[in-house]
Amino acid sequence: MSHIKSIDQDAQWFAKKLQPLNRLHTVYWVFDIDNARVLWANTASLKLWRAESLDELMSRDMSDGVSVSVAKRLTQYQNDFINNDQIEFRENWTLYPNDEPATVEVIFSAIRTESGRMCMHCESKSDVLFDAEDLRISEALLHTSVQITLYSQSGKTLYQNPAARSISRHAGESLQDHFSNKDLVNTLTANVSGEVNTVSRVNTRNGPRWHDITARMCTDAVTGKVAWLVSEVDVSKLKAMEEHAQFLAGHDTLTKLPNRKHLSIVFQEKIDNLIANNQMGCLLFMDLDNFKDVNDTLGHAAGDQLLVEVANRLTQIVSEKNTVARLGGDEFLFLIGPVESKNDTLARIEEISNAISFPMDIEGRKLQVTPSIGAALFPADGTEINALMRQADLAMYHTKDSGRNSYSFYSTEMSKAVSARVNLESELATAIRENQFVAFFQPRINIETNQVVCAEALVRWQHPNKGMVPPDEFIPACEACGLIGDLGKVVLQQTVKAQKILAESGIDIRMSINLSPLQFSESDLVEEILRIVKSEGGEPHNIELEITESVLLGNDAASIDKLNSLVEYGFKIAIDDFGTGYSNLAYLHKYPLHCIKIDRSFIREIERAHPIVRLVISMAELFDMNVVAEGVETEEQLQLLQQYQCNEYQGFLFSKPLAFEHFKLLVEGKNRYVA
Ligand code: C2E
Ligand code: CA
Ligand code: CA
Repeated sequence: MSHIKSIDQDAQWFAKKLQPLNRLHTVYWVFDIDNARVLWANTASLKLWRAESLDELMSRDMSDGVSVSVAKRLTQYQNDFINNDQIEFRENWTLYPNDEPATVEVIFSAIRTESGRMCMHCESKSDVLFDAEDLRISEALLHTSVQITLYSQSGKTLYQNPAARSISRHAGESLQDHFSNKDLVNTLTANVSGEVNTVSRVNTRNGPRWHDITARMCTDAVTGKVAWLVSEVDVSKLKAMEEHAQFLAGHDTLTKLPNRKHLSIVFQEKIDNLIANNQMGCLLFMDLDNFKDVNDTLGHAAGDQLLVEVANRLTQIVSEKNTVARLGGDEFLFLIGPVESKNDTLARIEEISNAISFPMDIEGRKLQVTPSIGAALFPADGTEINALMRQADLAMYHTKDSGRNSYSFYSTEMSKAVSARVNLESELATAIRENQFVAFFQPRINIETNQVVCAEALVRWQHPNKGMVPPDEFIPACEACGLIGDLGKVVLQQTVKAQKILAESGIDIRMSINLSPLQFSESDLVEEILRIVKSEGGEPHNIELEITESVLLGNDAASIDKLNSLVEYGFKIAIDDFGTGYSNLAYLHKYPLHCIKIDRSFIREIERAHPIVRLVISMAELFDMNVVAEGVETEEQLQLLQQYQCNEYQGFLFSKPLAFEHFKLLVEGKNRYVA
């Protein structure tokens, strides 16, 4: 009630105060924005409003059918008036008196009630008529969410549409205050004509935002002077999405560290800056030792958690932002600089190592990982990020090779070793194509009968320039570059061929070949071996395959399956170099094995190692396996082996590995060749 009463009081007060305006032909009314009511209207305006009387007009609820945008604009006006009661706005409004549209140009200004409440004073020449086109333009200007402002060339606001006014920090905000981009301000206030299109930061009452801005030079219709019509659209959301996308492209999603793509740009800039200042720095390549074990035993979630923890520790110790990055997997990269000397970097490396090695809590367990680090110095080792990365990587591998949990500095020898390896690998491919590999044969002798009962095929590389190259110099490279399978086939083929030739002279001899553990990862290993043996007319039961303990140790189902099916086809299996690996005698009976070859290191020291040798011999007997002593060089060794009842021996005492023609002469009894 008191509310209505106060409206009535305000209305009476205006009626008295504004009474003289009743005489004018121009229309005036006072609009109470808070209550959406006309508080007073002069006589001329009753016609415009199609009102029967002032009382009838005042009784209308103007909030009926008012659109959200109009309601918002009204509140806006009120706020603008409260901030500055001197301002006025001139706009084309379409009123709907009794639901019939009437468009008039209205000037809005501030007017307060007796009690000081802000209302809106509205003034219009009621007879102003607009053509349809103008009407639509002005409606569009009023309703659009595009912010449109007309600035004078000096930057003064000449006109703002409601959307523009709704975001400006105060009514009539100047161009200079609105745009934070100085270049844009300079362009717009300079006396050059044209059009500007840009995305820039602007100041708004909601704080700084990103706007897509189009500014076009024009002439102010009122003054005839140069002006800029500026339209703006808020693209902050888009901009944020774009920035996020850019961040994602340049950062690792797990650890939030810069990734390879990002670092090649950022690190290069830092390197360039340091070098330009005659300073030196260091690039560190870090890899976690045994990270794979964490993943394999505790699962990938734990592995991820560990990587995040490592990343957090690293970010904490690097003083500058963006100097640590994740390359992927468990590889991280650091940029350290400026440093005074190589020694200077050691302290930093220590710091990093200590931070990483400190035990961490992962899924309720205490885990400790150690880093292997490689370092490349700039400008001493290079100035370009990709080259430095390769060098630090090489140094890191050097650390891994020399026992992990340490660091190495890059040296040119490391590159030389790599290029030697790369050369070797390409030479090996040629060697296979051009049949440069030959199998030599070393006899295996039955200790009791002193007869050659078997021969081991040992491959040699007949290098066109270097002569005969021993296998230790190329087998690891063949394994590294995936040629070991092909090499194995070559040797098997030559071996079965040799066996066939001997058989034709009436000599039936078993032969063994060496299988690399890597060959067990070939899915068609069994089929290929069988195919070669058959195609050369050989017999599986006459072939022994020498494998290492590592094939059995992993207890890998696929490898064991292959082993079993080889045995089913009749092949014999020997454990090579027995004693050098895990050497768990108890597990031997789990697998289909026929032969144990005691490693030559035990034979060389047989006087000291005889308990082991004897144990192996008796275990082999227990499991009904053949046992061979390798590397027998002296009569004394042979005598002991005889005493221990070892089945066979192999070694320089009887013969070195021989080219086939010599081996053939030897077994034909024509020559006992001991080269
Ligand atoms: P391994 O299988 O243990 O072969 C025996 C090695 O001991 C041979 O060296 C042989 O020459 C050497 N040896 C034999 N008797 C004596 C002796 O009385 N004293 C000394 N000090 N050494 C003796 P080789 O031929 O240099 O072969 C080295 C290794 O290369 C082999 O060790 C084997 O692991 C690998 N290898 C050789 N041929 C092949 C092959 O065709 N395929 C695969 N995957 N590996 C092969
Ligand atoms: Ca062997
Ligand atoms: Ca061996």
